[in-house]
Amino acid sequence: MNQRMPGAKVVPFRTKEGISQHLIRRLLKKGEHYGLNRIIPFPTTKIIVANWVRLKCRYGCSRYNTSWCCPPATLKTDRVQTVLDEYETAILLVGSTDRADFYLNNNRKRAKQVRCWKGVVSLERMLFIEGYYKAFGLVSECCALCKTCVYPHACKFPQEKRPSVESFSIDIFGTLKTLGLQTKVAGDRKESYNYYALILLE
Ligand code: SF4
Repeated sequence: MNQRMPGAKVVPFRTKEGISQHLIRRLLKKGEHYGLNRIIPFPTTKIIVANWVRLKCRYGCSRYNTSWCCPPATLKTDRVQTVLDEYETAILLVGSTDRADFYLNNNRKRAKQVRCWKGVVSLERMLFIEGYYKAFGLVSECCALCKTCVYPHACKFPQEKRPSVESFSIDIFGTLKTLGLQTKVAGDRKESYNYYALILLE
């Protein structure tokens, strides 16, 4: 027989109830500590997956084959689509920063990357505890938790390890368009730019 302590709270598993505005507000409050200023829920059918994204990783990115969170260590494009097919809802996390940081490889830039990274993992955990047991974060840019990734040797922080959005072959520009969100590449050093992370929800 199933016996419970009087007054003990039962936390049910989720049954596809979507995500409430109240929870979005709580996530945003927490996310703001990590530099995330917008959270938008949307159906995963709006995520655009494309082979050319991985091509850009393979040719032209110095991170290729240097991190557990980038190709070729991450899932191939066809496998990504099968994973996405198992989710109906995702949330988009948006932060912004000044563009001058983008091309830097210094402690200030790294600190921002780590802050955002930890924010995504932290919100993913919060969602898991809320009953979204499938919640899985895809983080913006490359993992910067270590100054130099030890790939292909064992990751130093496997619990924080997540793939980046781009390493999942996700066309973030195309995805933003399907969501009706305006974006453009910052062309001036003085311009700020947005960065985007995702959490696959349920
Ligand atoms: S935590 Fe460190 S070792 Fe693991 S993927 Fe990130 S940078 Fe590499």
